[in-house]
Amino acid sequence: MRFARYLLGDKPSWARLDGEYALELSDAPWSPQSEDVRRFLFEPGTLLLPPCEPSKIVCVGKNYGEHVKELHPGEDAPAEPLIFLKPPSALLSPGGSILIPPESQRVDFEGELALVIGATICRPSLHEAKAAIFGYTPANDVTARDLQKKDGQWTRGKGFDTFCPVGPWLSTSDPDNSLLITRVNGEVRQQSSLSLMLFSPAEIVRFVAAVMTLYPGDVILTGTPQGVGSLQPGDIVEVEIQGIGTLRNVVEARTGS
Ligand code: MG
Repeated sequence: MRFARYLLGDKPSWARLDGEYALELSDAPWSPQSEDVRRFLFEPGTLLLPPCEPSKIVCVGKNYGEHVKELHPGEDAPAEPLIFLKPPSALLSPGGSILIPPESQRVDFEGELALVIGATICRPSLHEAKAAIFGYTPANDVTARDLQKKDGQWTRGKGFDTFCPVGPWLSTSDPDNSLLITRVNGEVRQQSSLSLMLFSPAEIVRFVAAVMTLYPGDVILTGTPQGVGSLQPGDIVEVEIQGIGTLRNVVEARTGS
């Protein structure tokens, strides 16, 4: 099943997608209170929102061996997931503009699979961790690479507004060994099977929820494969997870103060 979050007037709403139709829901799809409201024609131009409602966005670094080699030559792959946070204020809708801040000369794309959590979990078993994943969607862990290196930790380089595009919708089907493909202006820049992750989605959720309680709507970005590169104003960047969908954003320079 696929679920989209969108603007209905000025109110964020959820719907289950069914071909060109959609079924509006009274609450988030993971909520036990969620009921069917009405069936309607889902217009292609509907303004989509990130399909999540996170109290936090947790990211995993260095989760593909070839990416570890490209950014950290000579370094061993991590023995356990390396996690960091992005602020929920960094979220960006499908179709929205990634804004390059004047503080950075080098902003990179990182195509990733995102997990959206559907239950409250604290120190789960691996089985409970897997069961708590409600859905899957593409994401882009946009990174000011120069600031990430300069600061020695990642909060600023990863945390600018618009640096976390997520969407276009949630799929409840496990993407298993699907391909992740990132394109810039139509040219393939990253292409990897999700099976090459060092830590699986369930292992990541178990690891993260042993540190911090995860709540319904929270998001976890599972790391990027090799091929990261920079973005320029005017670029169109797409992250596709085959079988789920394609997240498309444009890039602009942030102007003004
Ligand atoms: Mg990343």
